[in-house]
Amino acid sequence: MKKLALHWWILIAMGLGVGYGLIATQFGATQHVLEYVKPIGTLFLNLLKMIAVPLVLFSLVAGVASLNDSSKMGRIGGKSILLYLGTTAVAITIGLLVVNVIQPGSGITEEMRENISSGYTADATERVEAAKDVSMIEQLVGIVPTNPFGALAKPNMLQVVFFALMLGIALTRLSNKRNTAHIVEVFDSLADAIIEMVHIIMKIAPIGVFAMLAGVIADLGKNPEQMVELLGALLWYMVAVVVAILIHGLLVYGLLLKTFTKVGFREFYRAVIPAQLLAFSSSSSAATLPVTIDCVEKKIGVDEEVSSFVLPLGATINMDGTGLYQGVAAVFIASVYGPDLDLTQQLQIVLTAALASIGTAAVPGVGIVMLTIVLSAIGVDNQGIALILGVDRILDMCRTTLNVTGDALVATIVASSEGMVHPPNKDPSPEGGS
Ligand code: ASP
Repeated sequence: MKKLALHWWILIAMGLGVGYGLIATQFGATQHVLEYVKPIGTLFLNLLKMIAVPLVLFSLVAGVASLNDSSKMGRIGGKSILLYLGTTAVAITIGLLVVNVIQPGSGITEEMRENISSGYTADATERVEAAKDVSMIEQLVGIVPTNPFGALAKPNMLQVVFFALMLGIALTRLSNKRNTAHIVEVFDSLADAIIEMVHIIMKIAPIGVFAMLAGVIADLGKNPEQMVELLGALLWYMVAVVVAILIHGLLVYGLLLKTFTKVGFREFYRAVIPAQLLAFSSSSSAATLPVTIDCVEKKIGVDEEVSSFVLPLGATINMDGTGLYQGVAAVFIASVYGPDLDLTQQLQIVLTAALASIGTAAVPGVGIVMLTIVLSAIGVDNQGIALILGVDRILDMCRTTLNVTGDALVATIVASSEGMVHPPNKDPSPEGGS
C-alpha cells in the first residue's frame, strides 16, 4: 500500500487537534488541555527552535565559504531584499484594496465596539507599551553583534546571519593562503546533520500539531460565549484578511513563479506544504525555519548557498502576511473609530506597514504590537487594537503561513535567476521522510 505523505498526516492531526479542542471546550475541560496537551506542542516547537540557530550558522558558513564568486553573494542579497520589499508592498496594497471593497467596519455599531474592546483594554495597553521599545535605527545598528556568541544564545537571527556571512567570506579569502577546505567540510557536515535532525523531529510533527491546535482552541474557548459573539462581530474583518492572503498567496505568487522560474505552481505548493502547515499551527516563522529550509532545498532543489542565506533573512525581515494584515487592521480600526481614512493616509499605511513588518519578530503575536506603530503614524488611537485582539491568534496563524510561503518563493526566484535550482529526482517519496 502507498505510504501516506507526511503533510496528510499533519493535516489529519490538525483536524483531530481542532476537534479535540472543541470537544474539551464543550465539556468545560479546557484546563485539562492547557495543562497536559498544550505542553506537548510546546515541546515539539522547542525541538524546532533548538535546531534553527545552529542550522543557519553551519549552513550559511558552509554555503558562503564554498562560493568562489565573491560578487555573487552581493547579487543574491540585493535581489532578495528587492523582492522582499516589493512583494510586501504588493501584499499591503492588496490588503487595502480588499478591505476597502468589503468594508468590514460598516456593520460595527458604537455599542458593539465598546462591548468588544472593553474586555481587552489591559491587554492592548500592554502591547502599546511593548511597541515603545522598538526603534528602526536601533534595529539597523543592532544587526552587527558585539558578541556573536551572545547572538547565538539570545538568539538574534539577523546577527547570526551577519556573523556567519562574515566568517564565510573570511574563510574564502583565507583559502589562498592556507587550506581551509577541512573547516568548510566540518561546517557542511554539521549542517547536513542538523537537516537529518529535522527529518527525525518531523516524524513526530503530527503529534506536535495536534497538541498545538488543541491548545489554541482551548485558549480561545476559555470563554466560549464571548468568543462566538466576537467571531460573529468580526467575521467580515477576518474574511477580508483571509481573502487578501489568498489573493496574494495564490495569484501574485503564482504569477511570480510563472514569470521568473521553471518551478510549477503545484510543484511549489506541494514542496512547501509541510512548512505551511507548521507555520499555521505554530504562528512562528522562526520555529518553522528549519522545515522551510529543508522543503526548499530537498523538494524544490534550491541550492544550499541560496537557501541558507535567503531564508533566514526572509524569516526575519520578510513578512507579507503581517504587512497585509496590518494594512487591513489599520483601515478596519480607523473606520470603526472614524473618520474614514483618505488616500494619503492609506498610502502612508503601505510605507509604515512595510517598515513595521520588517521590524516584526518572527514569533507569535508580534504583528499586532507593531500595528500600534502603523496606527500612530496615521493618527488613529493605538488603543484601538483592543477591538481585534480577541481574534488575533487565528489571524496570526494565517499571516504566518503567508510569511513562510513568501520566504520560500523569494528563495526559489533568486535561485532560479542564478541557475541554482537543481530539481530533485521526480521520485514520489513521502514528504519529510529521510
Ligand atoms: N507570527 C508572525 C510570524 O512569526 C509574526 C506576526 O505577524 O505576529 O511570522
